[in-house]
Amino acid sequence: MNNAKGIYGCHNHTFYSEDSNGDPARLCAEAVRSGLAGIAITDHFDTEFLARRDQVGYIRRSLETTRRLQRAYAGQLRIFTGVEVGSAVLYPEGIRPLLATEDFDIVIGSVHTVRYPGWILPFSRIDFTPFTEAQIHDFLYQYFIDLQETADTTDFDVLAHLTVPLRYIIGKYRKPVDMNRYQLQVRRILQTIVDKGIALEVNTSGVGGTFDAFMPERDIVQQYLDMGGRAITLASDAHIPENATHGLAEGAAMLRSLGVTEACYYRNRKPVYYPLPDV
Ligand SMILES: [Zn+2]
Ligand SMILES: [Zn+2]
Repeated sequence: MNNAKGIYGCHNHTFYSEDSNGDPARLCAEAVRSGLAGIAITDHFDTEFLARRDQVGYIRRSLETTRRLQRAYAGQLRIFTGVEVGSAVLYPEGIRPLLATEDFDIVIGSVHTVRYPGWILPFSRIDFTPFTEAQIHDFLYQYFIDLQETADTTDFDVLAHLTVPLRYIIGKYRKPVDMNRYQLQVRRILQTIVDKGIALEVNTSGVGGTFDAFMPERDIVQQYLDMGGRAITLASDAHIPENATHGLAEGAAMLRSLGVTEACYYRNRKPVYYPLPDV
């Protein structure tokens, strides 16, 4: 399935993110080619790297480029300014100057680094091979604590990839995880975002890969809807232009199977609903 026509991809990275070499102009060209209605450019602002990387400078350059591309693609593609704020609980002050001085269309909140003693680094870089079942459990338990604190204390619009550690723990390291153990934590996080009007992201970057699942999976999206949640974004979380539409059509089909007829994108930090295309 690759028809993402009419969808808004609300989470994309470019070479202003540490883990991407993607050319933003090529990302936009790919989005136009594949018929996306719009994209947000949401480069990383990971607080754990503040001491060694000029993150403010990178985000400012990302914003300048995004604004230039908005003008270049006027009438062809809607392009939105954004940022993905990672692990804000490690250094809550970090993002405030940027949010106070720059206009963003969308601010995404996520956790990439868990406050797990001895392993306070992005979990994409952790080798989980020696972790015991108990350690995996403690790690995930702490992940959801950090995500809850992020939702409670950080200024953001969309909660990104709620179950993303599973991509590494299950997908890459083949460790079993019983998500029932985190049911209460997940429920509380969902309640918090429903109460605060924060959108839930359906992240489709894992579709077709070693962890072939939406983040979060369908049953968690169902819970969010049952709790009164309405705002949902679709996100390929592309780190290379070729992935601009990765999994978006599948994500739209999953949402439709739950009776969802509208997703949203963000403009001036407010959700704008659009009809999900038939895919
Ligand atoms: Zn992320
Ligand atoms: Zn991302």
